[in-house]
Amino acid sequence: MAYQSINPYNNQVLKSYPNASDADLEAALVAGHQLYKQWRGESSATRKPILHQIAALMRAHKAQLAATITREMGKLISESEAEVELCAEIADYFADNAAEFLKPVPLTTAIGPAYYRKQSLGVLFMVEPWNFPYYQIMRVFAPNFMIGNPMILKHASNTPACAAAFANLVQEAGAPAASLTNLFISYDQVASAIKDSRVIGAALTGSARGGASVAKTAGESLKKSTLELGGNDPFIVLDDADMQQVAQWAPISRIGNAGQICTASKRFIVLAQHYDEFLEMLKAAFAAVKPGDPMDPATTLAPLSSAGAKKHLQEQVDAAVQAGAQVYYGNQPIDLPGQFFQPTILTGITADNPIYDQEMFGPVATVYKVDSEAAAIKLANDSSFGLGSSVFSKDLDHAQRVADQIESGMTFINRGWVSVPELPFGGVKTSGYGRELADLGFSAFVNEHLVVAA
Ligand code: NDP
Repeated sequence: MAYQSINPYNNQVLKSYPNASDADLEAALVAGHQLYKQWRGESSATRKPILHQIAALMRAHKAQLAATITREMGKLISESEAEVELCAEIADYFADNAAEFLKPVPLTTAIGPAYYRKQSLGVLFMVEPWNFPYYQIMRVFAPNFMIGNPMILKHASNTPACAAAFANLVQEAGAPAASLTNLFISYDQVASAIKDSRVIGAALTGSARGGASVAKTAGESLKKSTLELGGNDPFIVLDDADMQQVAQWAPISRIGNAGQICTASKRFIVLAQHYDEFLEMLKAAFAAVKPGDPMDPATTLAPLSSAGAKKHLQEQVDAAVQAGAQVYYGNQPIDLPGQFFQPTILTGITADNPIYDQEMFGPVATVYKVDSEAAAIKLANDSSFGLGSSVFSKDLDHAQRVADQIESGMTFINRGWVSVPELPFGGVKTSGYGRELADLGFSAFVNEHLVVAA
């Protein structure tokens, strides 16, 4: 497996990274386990200033950290900067709130008083993807650092510079060396690490295939896992939707990060009376994008992350069209050397179309016309995924009634997806299990240790 930075805007190979050896992995396991034992004897309060310092360093080095993302996976520089800022917010949030989340929970029982307290478990193995190369790490890192689970990271093979930058920053902030060990390792080494008795679980964000493989290994060793996987999120426009609000959110919810967001709105389900207006609005917004250098603040459409990502997306669109979908807008080549994909709108997708139940990781919107609210809900739920969803209605009660019927981990009313530290993140069905962020960020890799004092 090759860890390599390739700039998807100009296809320039920036750097290749040698794979870590088995001895490197063993050293990380030894150091991680030792640190776990050391941290067991310390309060999380000792780590609070370090996590705040990590946040401060992220803000101080924002320009450089953001440029590393943009050069390596192509994201617009403004989006990269926003990612760095969000990471700093998450770090501050867990530094400030961990003591409250981790305080003992008293229980009154018939046999007398008792309490349980969340305690660390050991070394956590983390597998993360390239699409938000710092944010994905931070969602796991911040709570686990505070509770005292040292971490080993296997990041995506196309974002090694981001992985190294994050790990360096943790060191620079004064964290113990084994707090987060970044290793450029193979899938086989990942499996052997997860099986190792010093590792207590695995947290993966990525595809269903990668998730199933890592969760299988963890399960066979009777270890916990959390999986944050793909999505095919519905964006439902109800009869009483505010179409200005819809116009504000629909385009950006699909083409933000060049469409490479698990929680992007991907299936636009529109009540018949709004359908034509919706299509025209989306087409106008898609036609207005400006592809170009993602380092240039004037660019509004970034390239996809890699040649492979573009090829896969094109194959999906071709298969959809071959099976009867209509291209309402887009699907034309963009005359630039990078991995650009024109924002595209597909209609006429029937349940037997191969992309009906596939995630498309790029700026391709599928738009469905429905005749009733019941049909909208049925279509939204007719998916193997269940990550996020959006519902648009001027009537909040109405939107909430519909939201309650959607099979997804998160629903946003009158807006697209947003991530802030206080909101738990995660999905159902094949979008995975477990939650990150908020107090639920402490729910997976902990020992809820019960002490009965009677
Ligand atoms: P992959 O699953 O291919 O890659 C994600 C990470 O998993 C990478 O580090 C990858 O390593 C690693 N990986 C994959 N297979 C294995 C394996 N068998 N053993 C060990 N490690 C493995 O996902 P994509 O690159 O396709 O990423 C995009 C996907 O991630 C989309 O489906 C997207 O929806 C999902 N995603 C989910 C999010 C969520 O929070 N729910 C957020 C963002 C993305 P390598 O790069 O070396 O192959």
